Amino acid sequence: MKLSQSFTKTTKTAPADEVSNSAKYLLRAGYIYKEMAGVYDYLPLGMRTLDKIMNVIREEMNAIGGEELRMTSLQPKEAWDASGRWDDKVMDVWFKTKLNAGGELGLAPTHEEPFTRLMKTYISSYKDLPLYVYQFQTKFRNELRAKSGIMRTREFMMKDLYSFSKTREEHDKFYETVAAAYLKIFDRLGIGDCTFRTFASGGSFSQFSDEFQTICDAGEDIIYLDREKKIAVNEEVYNDETLKTLGLDKAKLEQVKAAEVGNIFTLGYKYSDALDLCFNDEEGKRQKVFMGSYGIGPSRVMGVIAEKLSDDKGLVWPVEVAPYKYYIVGIGEAGEAKAAELHDLAPEDVILDDRKNARTGEKFADAELMGIPYRVVVSDKTLAENKVELKNRSTNETKLLTLEEFVSKLS
Ligand code: ATP
Ligand code: MG
Repeated sequence: MKLSQSFTKTTKTAPADEVSNSAKYLLRAGYIYKEMAGVYDYLPLGMRTLDKIMNVIREEMNAIGGEELRMTSLQPKEAWDASGRWDDKVMDVWFKTKLNAGGELGLAPTHEEPFTRLMKTYISSYKDLPLYVYQFQTKFRNELRAKSGIMRTREFMMKDLYSFSKTREEHDKFYETVAAAYLKIFDRLGIGDCTFRTFASGGSFSQFSDEFQTICDAGEDIIYLDREKKIAVNEEVYNDETLKTLGLDKAKLEQVKAAEVGNIFTLGYKYSDALDLCFNDEEGKRQKVFMGSYGIGPSRVMGVIAEKLSDDKGLVWPVEVAPYKYYIVGIGEAGEAKAAELHDLAPEDVILDDRKNARTGEKFADAELMGIPYRVVVSDKTLAENKVELKNRSTNETKLLTLEEFVSKLS
């Protein structure tokens, strides 16, 4: 990417109504654009970052046997009438509209009903199960309060996986597999050390659901954390009975603010009952399918990473998440020419700051604001030694590499 050819520009200030650091930096660095409260565009840098986050999640979902598809966001009333969730009193975040041809439509706030309905076509025998399907899809929720930039919006990205199992035992095993995969995902995304499996309220088929909560001041939840055991309890189920069930000691728990980045849920027969999703078992008997749902909000995760890993100069992306790995600045005629050459070797890895109208100091400041993991300086001086200077955004360490060493790092 060449900055001289990109339409986005960094700004010195953020809109006055944005309070969270993540939102301010993402707006100022040109990752997102605010359309209205709770609605944002993802600009080239932001889209790449979101895609990288989604790819980490995709790899881990595929690794546990998930099969990806994409369902429509347009929802017919009928599928949701069956579960009772078309009712605005039951599901209070619907965006609904009328079809010109007659009938009502809703914009999907989640996808349990359509997935269950879809599977009625594909599940008939025990041989079809278990089945794990997921998607990355835009969700729409008429949230009362949008908050903290992209952490709570009215249109957002969700990864939602649904499991279809023959029995509760089969379900329980997969549920734990997903929980482990989630911890791996948050590790890879750089927030593993501050993200905790958190017991939260369940439903008719399980006492608890599991949330994945990242300690974060901009978060909206309160959790009680046992750092040694690496588990937490959401305040909604924080009581003596819960602590006893989980074997937790009140005196060891720490109360912290947190943001929910993921959520896994045992649905049981709730939707297979409502929409009549059945299979024939080995004896030919008709049985209900046992279901689970597993969500992660990649756009909220992006906000949380931005919030957690930023400093007073700007964003600090982990390498797996950063839109680009290197931010190259050439100084002097030979330095600029060499910088352009290095960019062309790996344009997918590199932002080349070749802006004619920006001073070197401004370029350095923008490299920091954008949070690119490594700043690379190529100047007549470093070139005299056949070297480039590499500065690590998160540790501030600077070192000199030979040109050959640096080229071998480019993919
Ligand atoms: P919350 O309690 O924060 O409203 P939720 O329980 O409604 O979340 P789910 O329906 O389980 O969330 O959605 C799965 C994931 O989608 C959440 O864990 C979160 O990461 C993300 N998410 C939910 N609502 C939003 C939103 N309004 N904006 C951005 N991400 C969201
Ligand atoms: Mg919600």
